[in-house]
Amino acid sequence: MGQDANLFGLLRSGFPRTLDDTAIEVVGPSAHEPRYYTWRDLDEGSAMLANLLASLELPPQSRIAVQVDKCVEALLLYLAVLRAGHVFLPLNTAYQEAELAYFIGNAEPAVLVCRPQQFGWISRLAFTAGVEHVFTLGDDRSGTLLDRAAWQPREHAVVSRGVDDLAAILYTSGTTGRSKGAMLTHGNLASNAEVLHRTWHWREGRELPRERRDVLIHALPIFHVHGLFVASHGALRAGAKMLWLDRFDAGTVVARLPEASVFMGVPTLYVRLLAEAGLTAARCATMRLFVSGSAPLLLETFREFRLRTGHTILERYGMSETVMLTSNPYAPDSARRGGTVGPPLPGVGLRIVGDRGQPLAAGEIGGVEVRGPNVFKGYWRMPEKTADDFTTDLWFKTGDVGRLDDDGYLSIVGRSKDLVITGGYNVYPAEVEGFINEIPGVAESAVIGVPHPDFGEAVVAVLTARHGATLDPSAVQATLKGRIAGFKVPKAVVVATELPRNAMGKVQKNLLREAHHALFVKV
Ligand code: AMP
Repeated sequence: MGQDANLFGLLRSGFPRTLDDTAIEVVGPSAHEPRYYTWRDLDEGSAMLANLLASLELPPQSRIAVQVDKCVEALLLYLAVLRAGHVFLPLNTAYQEAELAYFIGNAEPAVLVCRPQQFGWISRLAFTAGVEHVFTLGDDRSGTLLDRAAWQPREHAVVSRGVDDLAAILYTSGTTGRSKGAMLTHGNLASNAEVLHRTWHWREGRELPRERRDVLIHALPIFHVHGLFVASHGALRAGAKMLWLDRFDAGTVVARLPEASVFMGVPTLYVRLLAEAGLTAARCATMRLFVSGSAPLLLETFREFRLRTGHTILERYGMSETVMLTSNPYAPDSARRGGTVGPPLPGVGLRIVGDRGQPLAAGEIGGVEVRGPNVFKGYWRMPEKTADDFTTDLWFKTGDVGRLDDDGYLSIVGRSKDLVITGGYNVYPAEVEGFINEIPGVAESAVIGVPHPDFGEAVVAVLTARHGATLDPSAVQATLKGRIAGFKVPKAVVVATELPRNAMGKVQKNLLREAHHALFVKV
C-alpha cells in the first residue's frame, strides 16, 4: 500500500516523548471525580479497543456506529477505529429511534456502541437490522465495551491505510432534507490536521517540556467535526494536554482558563462565557487562541469579547464534508476581521460563482465552491446526491452563499437554501439579520422566507429581546425602512423568547419556516 497514511500514525507522532505526562484531565462539570489519562493511557487504551475490534474479525472498512455521552473512552474508541482501519460513525446523542433506524439502515454498521441505559431498544433495533455486535459504554466507564477490551493486549500494530481509505462518516445535521453521510478519508483528515497545526501555531509538544506545551479546553461534543476533528486532532497532534469537559459549562471554563492556552467554541458558547462576571483579561493571561466556528459569530460578540478579555476571537469556517476551509489569520491578531471567516487555508481552492456557475468578481455574492485534499469522497451510498453537489470540473458546491473581499477574506451570507426570493428579488438573510441586530433591544434574529400570495415568498424576521427590553414589531420595521431597500424589510416581525438551535448552536430555520408557514397564506 506504499507509504502508510493511517491518521492515527500522524496523531501519535505528536505525542510527547514522556508518555507518563497527563494527556487529558477530566474537569467536570458532571464527573464524579477528577480523572487523569496519560499519553500512555491513550496509546494503550486505544490499542486494547483496536484489538477487541480485530478479534471480531470484521470485514475491512466496517462502520462502527457510536452514540454515547461525551467521555474520554469514546475518544479512545475513535482512535481504536482508526488504528484498526475501520470507519468511525459518530451519532448525535439527541437522535431518537426513527433517526437511529435511518442511520443504521443507511450505514449498515457492523458494530454499534450505545449508552447502557438504552441497550434494550437500541439492540433490538440493531439486531433486527442485521448489526452483528452491540456494545455499551457509559460515561462512568461502565458497559460491555470496556469489560471486553480489558482482556485485550496493550500493544497493537496500526493497520496500514492509504490516503483514500475511509476513516469516518459524518452524517450532516440535516437542517434541510434527509441527513447524508459524508465520507472522510485518512487523507482528508490528516491533511486538514496538518494545515491547522501550522496555521494556528500549535506548539510542538513533542519537543517541549510540559510547562511550555499548549493546553486546550475541550468543551465541545465529539460527534461533530468541530469537537472531534478540529479540537481533538489539534491537541493530539500537538502533544497538548486537554482539560476535558463532559459538557459545556461556562463557570468551569472560566475557572480553568488560567491553566489553558487554547479554547474552541461555537458562537453560543462565547455568548455564555460573556455572561460570566469572572471572565476577565487577567483570567485569560495564559491564553493565546480563542477559535469560533460552526455558525456565524455576531460582530457584537466579537467586539465585546475583545473589550472584556483583550483577545480577538479567530473565526474559521468549515463543514462536515470538507473539514476546515478558511481561517482568519493567526498573526497579527489585528488582521482577524469580525464578520468574516478569513481567507482559504493553504491548499484549499475557493471560488464564488453565480447562478450559472460563472466565476464572480470580488465583492459579488454567490455560491461558495471549494476543492482540495480536505474535500470528502462523496455521500455514502448516494451517488446521485454526490454528483449533484460537485461541478463537472470537480469543485464541491458547499451550499453556502458568500462574498470574497479584495483581500481574499470570505464572508458567509447564508445557506443557498435559506435565500429568500421575494417578488423576484434575492434577499440574503444574514444581511438583514445584521441590520436588525444593530437595533437597540434586539438580542438576536433569524430571517426566513415564507409563502406569500403576491411575492412568492415574504421576508419574515423572528427576534428575541435583550434582557429587560421590549420590542415593538412595527417600530423594528420602521427603523429598517430607513436603512435597507424596501423589499428586504420584513413583512412580518415576530418576537420570540428564543430561537430554536441544534446541538452545534445553528439556528434551525426549517423549524421557523414550518412554524410561520401560514402567516400570509391559508393552509
Ligand atoms: P456542519 O457540517 O454541521 O459543520 O455545518 C456546516 C455549515 O455550518 C457550513 O456549511 C456553514 O453553513 C456553517 N458554518 C460553519 N462555520 C461557520 C462560520 N464561521 N460562519 C458561518 N457559518 C458557518
